[in-house]
Amino acid sequence: MASPSMPLRSFINGKRVRPSPQHLYSLYDAATGTVREKVQSATPGQIRDGVIAASESQERWARDYSPSDRSKVLLRAARILERRAGEVALAETGDTGRTVRETRHEAAGAADCLEYQAGAALTVGGQHVDLSGNRSWGYTRREPIGTTVGIGAWNYPLQSAVWKSAPALAFGNSMVFKPSELTPTTALILADAYSEAGLPDGVFNVILGDGSAGASLVSHEKVDKVSFTGSVETGSKVYTAAAESLKRVTLELGGKSPLIIFDDANIHDAVSTAMVANWLSSGQVCSNGTRVFVHESVLEKFLESLVKRTSRLKIGDPTEEATDLGPMISRGHMEKVMKYIQIGKEEDQADLLCGGEPILQETGGYYLSPAIFSNCNDNMRIVQDEIFGMVMSVLSFRDEGEVVQRANNTAYGLAAGVFTNDLKRAHRVVADLNVATTWINNYNLAPVVLPWGGFKKSGQGSENGLVGVESWTRLKAVYVEMGAIDCPYP
Ligand code: NDP
Repeated sequence: MASPSMPLRSFINGKRVRPSPQHLYSLYDAATGTVREKVQSATPGQIRDGVIAASESQERWARDYSPSDRSKVLLRAARILERRAGEVALAETGDTGRTVRETRHEAAGAADCLEYQAGAALTVGGQHVDLSGNRSWGYTRREPIGTTVGIGAWNYPLQSAVWKSAPALAFGNSMVFKPSELTPTTALILADAYSEAGLPDGVFNVILGDGSAGASLVSHEKVDKVSFTGSVETGSKVYTAAAESLKRVTLELGGKSPLIIFDDANIHDAVSTAMVANWLSSGQVCSNGTRVFVHESVLEKFLESLVKRTSRLKIGDPTEEATDLGPMISRGHMEKVMKYIQIGKEEDQADLLCGGEPILQETGGYYLSPAIFSNCNDNMRIVQDEIFGMVMSVLSFRDEGEVVQRANNTAYGLAAGVFTNDLKRAHRVVADLNVATTWINNYNLAPVVLPWGGFKKSGQGSENGLVGVESWTRLKAVYVEMGAIDCPYP
């Protein structure tokens, strides 16, 4: 992507900005703690240039490119990303520390999203409404919102960039995307893919930098809509700043999701799922099911298998094929997770069954062993706060009504899973859970054909699925009169 002497740079109006020895910061390799790459943060002038480029190119993209033209650009970008899948995987592993076993699917996931939105661009339009026989009728025009800003978190950088930009561009918007300062690389690969696919200059721009770059984008007067993925705390700031100029906003925020395992569940599958719901991406997933409620009658069997299988996992170099779990993204984040493990040890009666230790320290990498706490209660901080690391809290329950009420006892409303072979109970429970995404007998799958959003403090609005189109378009109503005017005045 960039030679060691050439820092990663923002992509504005179809090209990288000029290299400069100023505004540089370092990216660290999570597996070794050494400097991996330099990044050049965008200057305030470059941030403005990015917004102007997006604003000036948007009208032409919406007007001169038909839905079919736009769809074809997205489909070509999908093929380019698939061709570059190996490079995408290494870049994503380099930036995040996630294993290549996970990141090798990243390009294919992005291609799925591009294909879906390419199809939506061709098929989703307005509506015809009959008002009075042949005499008058109405219709709605689905129009782009205009110049949009996407801001991403660091755990799934390419997914964030594609989930936001693909529908935005499909429906004729332009975008300035700001990845997390920790994970800038794959948004730049995406920008290259769009360019090679024929996207006009200026329609997709990438601004590199920290939160202040994000804040400048959110408050820019030429921006019409902001789609943000990140923490509740930052999401609230973005919401407030966007409200000042009445911009449209979508927020995809944090969670502390419950996974409920009933006594009739297949315990082997339930343990597999609890592991996926907690250890995936070294626990750095917004939707992770970190509050694991297990029916008291199967608790012992569940814990025995969970601890045995977790302690067998191979933790280490994320670029190695055999590695199950990689490092945490940064030293700072590892320290935050360790603080929570300490709080868990000190709080109440919870038992740390395994893990929770810094390991492989000789590598210099940010490695932690996955921690399982049992005997937790609902009010403990490790049960209430989003930790965003491998800290699983296991809680036991006795009956359905009780567990649903306890599962809903959180400020978040992102996701939840239910494990049971009782069909009626499964649907009854998901209906009662106050969260935006639910899984029955599985966890952490997010196909782009289904909506993705958050209830309560976990977000505002939905993206993906057909309903996601509403986040990237505005509707204009048109009344058409074909008959005589019925005038009440002489
Ligand atoms: P942050 O909220 O710290 O940052 C998210 C993004 O916002 C980053 O690009 C950050 O820049 C930027 N930012 C920071 N301050 C501002 C500001 N004032 N105005 C505009 N942008 C700003 O989240 P993390 O990156 O730490 O990501 C982890 C969080 O994201 C977790 O809470 C997780 O649950 C959530 N998340 C939610 C998802 C969902 O779909 N619901 C998916 C993935 C993650 P920078 O970091 O470069 O300073």
